[in-house]
Amino acid sequence: MASKIVVFAEVRDGRFKKAALECLSEARKLKGELGGGDVTAVVVGGAQVSSLAPSLGAYGADRVLVASADWLERYDGEAYSKLVVAAVSAEKPDVVLIAASLDGKDLAPRVAALLGAGLAADVTAAKVEGGKLQITRPVYAGKAYATLEVKTTPQVISVRPNAFPAEQKTGTAQVSPLAISFKPEDLPSKVLEVKAAKTGKADLTEAERIVSGGRGLKGPENFKIIEELAEEIGATVGASRAVVDSGWRPHSDQVGQTGKTVSPNLYVAVGVSGAIQHLAGMSTSKCIVAINKDKDAPIFKVADYGIVGDLFEVVPRMTAEVRKLKGK
Ligand SMILES: Cc1cc2nc3c(=O)[nH]c(=O)nc-3n(C[C@H](O)[C@H](O)[C@H](O)COP(=O)(O)OP(=O)(O)OC[C@H]3O[C@@H](n4cnc5c(N)ncnc54)[C@H](O)[C@@H]3O)c2cc1C
Repeated sequence: MASKIVVFAEVRDGRFKKAALECLSEARKLKGELGGGDVTAVVVGGAQVSSLAPSLGAYGADRVLVASADWLERYDGEAYSKLVVAAVSAEKPDVVLIAASLDGKDLAPRVAALLGAGLAADVTAAKVEGGKLQITRPVYAGKAYATLEVKTTPQVISVRPNAFPAEQKTGTAQVSPLAISFKPEDLPSKVLEVKAAKTGKADLTEAERIVSGGRGLKGPENFKIIEELAEEIGATVGASRAVVDSGWRPHSDQVGQTGKTVSPNLYVAVGVSGAIQHLAGMSTSKCIVAINKDKDAPIFKVADYGIVGDLFEVVPRMTAEVRKLKGK
């Protein structure tokens, strides 16, 4: 059964988000498993996005539809969802893939609602069984995984960043414009300002490496040792809710059920007990390293590597070892 897949290719700061390239690579794989078909990427953004579009061919796009206008430079849920729906109406795909990035988490349900389609959110695995797409997503705060089939056509799937690899191969995509049939004044709301945190690091939800600190750090001043390790290994700093509630770190750093869901290649939990609500946000990390002085701390149940010890001794030694390896 051939299949058509539409992928929303999100642009941020003049480049495609890695999570969007991951969606495209997965779409290419699923297309093969579904017996062929084609993958259309939809790009929405400011004037510069047209020049970026052809590069999507190497990640799996057969065609790219581009809606570009200066006023589309910044993400706007109303406008972007209308444009993705316009592309879907023209392409009539079986599947719509959208990265579950911060913007994607806003966009995917809007698109599904406008299409009257079923939505599977934050998907971490997908396979084809008997010609049908089966997807897997964490449920019950990450305690279990549900495998499901979405019965509508199209089915809208938001894909957790870092759950699938972004594979660059060869290939070129045919690029066409996507008509914009409305003006910003026609929309019921207008985005006035976006205040982005200026950390210079990848957002937690897309970071490949994270070092998170918990209440075991004893005070905000001690996050310095976490920041030093993170700096050496190119990681983003995260935090438990106990730390955020104490005002030691901003809420944007919080990992967990009421914070961000992350899936990095490496998650280092320092002085974090591993409460179920924390695990809900990080248990799909590929490699989990836990440092805790309590050998019975629940974090060790999900850890691939555990160090039972005082973080104030262990973390600076880890940082020093990394520096040595880097010849510093
Ligand atoms: C509805 C709800 C939603 C929630 N959402 C979230 C969420 O999104 N994210 C989240 O994180 N939590 C969340 N929580 C809170 C969660 O239940 C825990 O209270 C919280 O995760 C605990 O944070 P912690 O591990 O930093 O602190 P603690 O549980 O106090 O753990 C501190 C750990 O540090 C260790 N430690 C202490 N000193 C040292 C040392 N010197 N060296 C090494 N280890 C040391 C201790 O052994 C301990 O394991 C939520 C709770 C509720 C009820």
